[in-house]
Amino acid sequence: MLKGLKQLFRDESGAAIVIVTIALLVIIGCMALVIDVGVVYAERIQASNAVDAAVLAGVGELPLNPGNALAIAQNYALANGLSSEQVVFQIQDSGKSIRGIVDYDQPMYFARVFNIYSAKVKPTAKARVGPAGQLGAGMGVVPIAVEQDEIVFDKPMTLKEGGGSGEQGWYGCLDLVSLTKPSGGGASEYEHYLTYGYDGSGTVKRDTLILEENGNMSGPTRRAIEYRIAKCKAECDRECTAADHDPDCPLLVIVPVGKMINNKYFQVESFAAFYLSPTIGNGNNSVITGQYVRPVTVPGAKIDDSIADNGVYTRVLVE
Ligand SMILES: [Zn+2]
Repeated sequence: MLKGLKQLFRDESGAAIVIVTIALLVIIGCMALVIDVGVVYAERIQASNAVDAAVLAGVGELPLNPGNALAIAQNYALANGLSSEQVVFQIQDSGKSIRGIVDYDQPMYFARVFNIYSAKVKPTAKARVGPAGQLGAGMGVVPIAVEQDEIVFDKPMTLKEGGGSGEQGWYGCLDLVSLTKPSGGGASEYEHYLTYGYDGSGTVKRDTLILEENGNMSGPTRRAIEYRIAKCKAECDRECTAADHDPDCPLLVIVPVGKMINNKYFQVESFAAFYLSPTIGNGNNSVITGQYVRPVTVPGAKIDDSIADNGVYTRVLVE
């Protein structure tokens, strides 16, 4: 071979054409392989994205409706280019997880000259739901404290009393400024956080100590709730109710659940979701009424299995 090539090089008249031909064959062969490999690579990325999206969509139905979770995941997968033969979904971890397994062979075309006829496309994805346990900015936390035994779901309740028997002047209001600043804040910060939900740089999690906010906070409470009612009317795409509302409805708030310590701090144990009544009652206007609702998903939070499950969940991709 080498001797033959040397001979070719010596024969100057034909050498160029032969060398160019050999080079072209090598280049075309390489390009063909690159195309095959590229197609498989693209297939794997597309299948991986499809199965990720499918389990994240399906997990929203867990742990209450595993059948719906499977059906939704399957629909998402089909809508994103997978066929029902290419992917299967399973409910795992006692109904808290959904796993998707893609498995099919992508045919190869140019690689057949090397006896490679297909390549495996086999991505998997798993999403988990669990009690939301570490809530920060933009997750809907409001500065109202609740004790676990006050929570009764799906019936009209009072979230914050207007007056009467508070614990030494405490009416259930919290000072969320104390999450990042030991000295805490005042009425205007309370009003801000009740109006917009907590948007500071701290996080609320199990065992977090939050300073109580003393006083009735009547005016700030009323203005904050009125703002939320007006925003729901202006921006939600339906007549919101506790049972049927926009996912981002401003009438849905997350309250820390826990207990008072030394009449000064509220120690967080878990979270609950409260749907505010779309009207403000007469009489003492700092009363907040509505009902506890579940399940509610808080995107971006962390799962904490050690806290009480009051139906405030978050979902994460774990695989
Ligand atoms: Zn609404």
